[in-house]
Amino acid sequence: QLGSSSAVQQVISSEFEINTPKGNVATYILQNASQWSKHTAVECSVTGRSYTYSQLVDQVAKFGGVLQKMGIGPGDRVGVMMLNCLEYPIVFLGTLFIGAVPAVYNSSYTAEEVSKQLVDSGAKLVVGDEACWGALSVALRQMSRPAIPTILNFHSSPLPQGHPKLSQLLEDQNIPFADAVEVDETELAFIPYSSGTTGNPKGVKLSHGALSSSLEMLAHPSVSLIRQTSGNEQDSCLCYLPFFHIYGINFHLANAIKHGGRVVVVPKFDPSTYVSNLFKYKVRVIHTVPTVLNFLMQSPQVGPDTMTHVEAVLCGAAPVSHTAASSLAKKMDKHIQFVEGYGMTEVMITHMTPLGEDKVGSCGKCLPSVSTKIIDLQDGRLLGPNEQGELYIKTPSIMSGYDNNDKATQDTITEDGWVKSGDIGFYDEDGFFSVIDRSKELIKVKALQVAPSELEEVLLQHPKVVEAGVVGVPDERLGEAPRAYVVTSNPTTPNEIKEFVDTRVAPYKRLVGGVVFINEMPKNQTGKMLRKELRKMALSSL
Ligand code: AMP
Repeated sequence: QLGSSSAVQQVISSEFEINTPKGNVATYILQNASQWSKHTAVECSVTGRSYTYSQLVDQVAKFGGVLQKMGIGPGDRVGVMMLNCLEYPIVFLGTLFIGAVPAVYNSSYTAEEVSKQLVDSGAKLVVGDEACWGALSVALRQMSRPAIPTILNFHSSPLPQGHPKLSQLLEDQNIPFADAVEVDETELAFIPYSSGTTGNPKGVKLSHGALSSSLEMLAHPSVSLIRQTSGNEQDSCLCYLPFFHIYGINFHLANAIKHGGRVVVVPKFDPSTYVSNLFKYKVRVIHTVPTVLNFLMQSPQVGPDTMTHVEAVLCGAAPVSHTAASSLAKKMDKHIQFVEGYGMTEVMITHMTPLGEDKVGSCGKCLPSVSTKIIDLQDGRLLGPNEQGELYIKTPSIMSGYDNNDKATQDTITEDGWVKSGDIGFYDEDGFFSVIDRSKELIKVKALQVAPSELEEVLLQHPKVVEAGVVGVPDERLGEAPRAYVVTSNPTTPNEIKEFVDTRVAPYKRLVGGVVFINEMPKNQTGKMLRKELRKMALSSL
């Protein structure tokens, strides 16, 4: 422990407050769009195709009309499995616009992985694209219930029979534009996925008010990096962070569009074009995750002449290197505002470095209307400054709960509304927070979630694996890499096990951290696997 036990124990709250906007978050996001109707709203960085704000608003209402014509109404779930693309904002906002609920699936998922989410979300309709169709079509075929109608966003491949094409539906003169459907801000808006503190990925129910509150928090002058579009001045936002993750949804799909930004869509992160695109689109604020920040620090392409327009760098979603900000500024040969953000799908973004401030190693202060306390992991005591414990967070951007999983909801949200983050950290005398470790099972690979229990389930399907435990090991390129500890019944090789898993999971979940055979799984007296011991074994082997 860093602090003394006599430290003043307290709840840290932001000095600022926001009000939760009323009603449908899609209308809130688009409420000012007429002010910049001729500006580009979305542009594809690969094809150059684009929509202006007036086209985006029309397409959102049109897609709402398409859904209504297909029998989708308020509260119905619409599964979305697409790479970042020009149409993603139309599908996402158009679904919200009529009070229906986008359930956003990871675009790299295998058929087995996405089929779980299709079933769990109870999707009444699905929107997929060419890149995801391989997995999605298998998952849809395997479902035992009646076929789910699927709209396909295909551009070059031939359209599989029996499925309507998104672009044709959006152009169909016979489909009327929908009117915005009034919903209460407490109603469910969308469902991203998170494994939370334990177990497999779960649908996270976020309301209209949770998302609009989050946007109000990010727009607060104490932290806002946004420059609202005015006249010829329009910020571009380079969007390679996936639109199915809360970081991409919040900053790009919602925040950038709310303020009239030009959303430049990048389907897949490509190091060689990333830097040239930053220059080409005159990007002022760059949104990164730690692995991309590392790339920027190492890339010879990054220097004063390529980073001309960059004024601020935001980084979050996984632990950030403490020296990153200063070394990047040195390379760019100028002052940059470095902002670290902290959050999780269950509460969206709750902590950020305030503008003009700089504290190495901290993920910032509570955003407006956010409170945080540090709770001792052993005895549940409220801890004081510089004492390490679990972060408990209270915020208007909180989830309403996990979908179909009351037990996980009750285990995560206390009766008086605090979310137990499963992250370990502390705050200092100035109210800055630092996250130093995790008490939850989660592994973060390139800032994406990997749930150990999911990989353990796959490992146990191997005929020679009797017991399996998965933990994350530090990895320079990925942040963390999953490593499996297995007890086997018959001789096998690490490669055989690795290949077995690799073919069944999304690429980022592969066992890049290795497979280690052990004779016995460390367990407590009740037979529960001691993941902590596995983590210790992993760290001592490095
Ligand atoms: P996700 O729900 O995918 O956004 O993952 C949330 C988790 O990412 C948090 O609970 C943390 O473990 C981790 N995380 C997010 N931001 C940070 C940060 N700035 N520093 C360290 N870990 C972070």
